[in-house]
Amino acid sequence: MFSSVLIANRGEIACRIARTAKRLGLRTIAVYSEADRSALHVRLCDEAHPIGPPPAGESYLLIDKLIEVARKARADCIHPGYGFLSENPDFAEACANAGIVFVGPPPSAIRAMGLKDRAKTLMEQAGVPVVPGYHGERQEVSFLKQNGYEIGYPLLIKAVAGGGGKGLRRVDKHAEFDAALEGAQREAQGAFGDARVLIEKYISAPRHIELQVFADTHGNAIHLNERDCSLQRRHQKVIEEAPAPGMTAELREAMGGAAVEAAKAVGYVGAGTVEFIADGAKGLRRDGFWFMEMNTRLQVEHPVTEAITGLDLVEWQFRVAAGEPLPLTQDKVPLRGHAVEARLYAEDPQRGFLPSTGKLIALKFPQGEGIRIDTGVETGSEITPFYDPMIAKLIAHAPTREAALDRLAGALDRTVAIGPRTNLSLLAALCRAAEFRARQFDTGFIDRHPDLLGDCGIDRAAAALGALHLMAQDTARIAQSLDRAPDEPPSPWDATDAFQLGGERSLPLTILVDGEPARADVSHGRNGIAVAVDGVAPDLDAVAIEAADAVYVLRRGRQTLVRRVDFAAGELDHAGGDGAIKAPMHGKVLELLVAAGDMVTKGQRLAIIEAMKMEHALTAPRAGRVAGIAVAAGSQVAEGASIMTIAATDDTN
Ligand code: ADP
Ligand code: ADP
Ligand code: MG
Repeated sequence: MFSSVLIANRGEIACRIARTAKRLGLRTIAVYSEADRSALHVRLCDEAHPIGPPPAGESYLLIDKLIEVARKARADCIHPGYGFLSENPDFAEACANAGIVFVGPPPSAIRAMGLKDRAKTLMEQAGVPVVPGYHGERQEVSFLKQNGYEIGYPLLIKAVAGGGGKGLRRVDKHAEFDAALEGAQREAQGAFGDARVLIEKYISAPRHIELQVFADTHGNAIHLNERDCSLQRRHQKVIEEAPAPGMTAELREAMGGAAVEAAKAVGYVGAGTVEFIADGAKGLRRDGFWFMEMNTRLQVEHPVTEAITGLDLVEWQFRVAAGEPLPLTQDKVPLRGHAVEARLYAEDPQRGFLPSTGKLIALKFPQGEGIRIDTGVETGSEITPFYDPMIAKLIAHAPTREAALDRLAGALDRTVAIGPRTNLSLLAALCRAAEFRARQFDTGFIDRHPDLLGDCGIDRAAAALGALHLMAQDTARIAQSLDRAPDEPPSPWDATDAFQLGGERSLPLTILVDGEPARADVSHGRNGIAVAVDGVAPDLDAVAIEAADAVYVLRRGRQTLVRRVDFAAGELDHAGGDGAIKAPMHGKVLELLVAAGDMVTKGQRLAIIEAMKMEHALTAPRAGRVAGIAVAAGSQVAEGASIMTIAATDDTN
């Protein structure tokens, strides 16, 4: 076994690897960018070394720099985690050249599986079923379009170098092919520096089922059962579970066998995942699954496999990298109970899952039997636009699927994540969704159930609680200025509002609820202050956290930000349907689709912004005329920056 490891990653996966490495007695060496100076993974490791500025391209992706640090720190091996350099064959090679063991497969296996087109061709040759489509060399638009026509719609355009759902476009009609191809190519070029695509038939009622495989340097290869990752948004996993609902022992053997064949075909070593798409329309069947891709690394959702097998996959990775044989044979692999994982993301489900950034004002997770939390951040950490917006993974394990889902839903209810927007309430709603629990789901489940994204209107009970806290802040401030103890009851004589004596009275207080103006009715009665928003009283069970000039309320997993209106700053003039288009997050303006003076219709695409290597379209909130374009294509914008205005015109109102 090794005596030290450099972890070439950050966040929760760096922490997770460090934990196992420490248990195995390895000296742990962290690396960090300037944005991660005080990150959890840095403190968790025995030593830590700076590697550069925040952008991954100037730090976590610098092969030479990482090798240099590993040499200086005398690391025996490098664990790449996932994302970043984990599937970069040049990095694996650079490690070998420096005499440092890369904890992962040989460069040749990474190369063989790295491009989806080549991987599919290889798998076809190995007799593994692949999704029908075109995965050849030719890339001319007309040729690809003709192929699309022959494959039939709906279809998928995929970046051959793709990953993380990027460079992926579903096309439903021939007329939409060109625009989708252009979008996929541009996103692929931006994210992977490779614009090439392949075309696949879109499988109806698709279920994403993947097999965890493991191979050693002694010629052994086995699988550790499947995971079902069908609950997705933007083709990215949200909830994963093991085993897959509807899986039979016979089908597991068939899919597991195909996965092991796939691994053997490329001389695989270490942990890998073979992803299949299954046609779930008539239930899982032997002739209804096809190879999609192989991820030549540890997977984000590996904890569900660890839960049902009782194994530590990172320990296995170290042992295999050190030349030990696999500790188990196929027939000895356990499968106990059911496990479900939920990925808590800093994103806004109600606004197209846009990534959200900012400081985590509060972050608290529950503990309990069968609950595991993997995270790399804590209260006070910043979710930056530089890296993946995942906050944590919550994993529940129980004897049955129902019990595991109950356990996870309960854990999500008790989780506090305040600051950036999160998908917390969506996750809990998914765990409780009747159809999902009845095993009726596929990858379109979240899109088909917009109700699970939560109410779009303001959360009145939360807004009222926020207003109550704002009032209490005032009272405390007044008490302080009058040198009176803050717990003494407030006197109406001290109030700065228009309060008058003579019984209970209600006064309006204008507040901003998630940036939109709203009215809270405040009454000063015998029992102190009472507040209501549209007649709804505060939910006193919700969590309220006071920040400098605002109150964050977390109610049933949904966050509501309540602020006082700053009249001096003219805030009310801009809030609400005035047609102002603002950047929803930090990012880069890729393209302006309209020019000043253009007439647009409601919902029309106005501009494309790129953040975290994903494209997001800004659309018109109403019909009108484009005015005041404040940015140019290529410019960087901060969250909330003015992009343009859609001015109402007489004929469009
Ligand atoms: P990535 O490398 O981005 O993970 P994948 O090829 O694994 O790309 O596809 C991502 C997701 O897109 C899958 O998990 C699945 O939900 C969906 N998908 C991929 N291929 C198909 C297909 N042929 N039919 C239907 N859905 C698909
Ligand atoms: P899967 O989820 O199936 O493992 P993905 O391709 O979605 O496959 O996951 C890899 C992604 O993990 C990368 O694209 C990257 O965005 C993200 N990632 C990279 N490093 C980290 C990290 N330290 N913590 C969380 N996510 C990370
Ligand atoms: Mg994939």
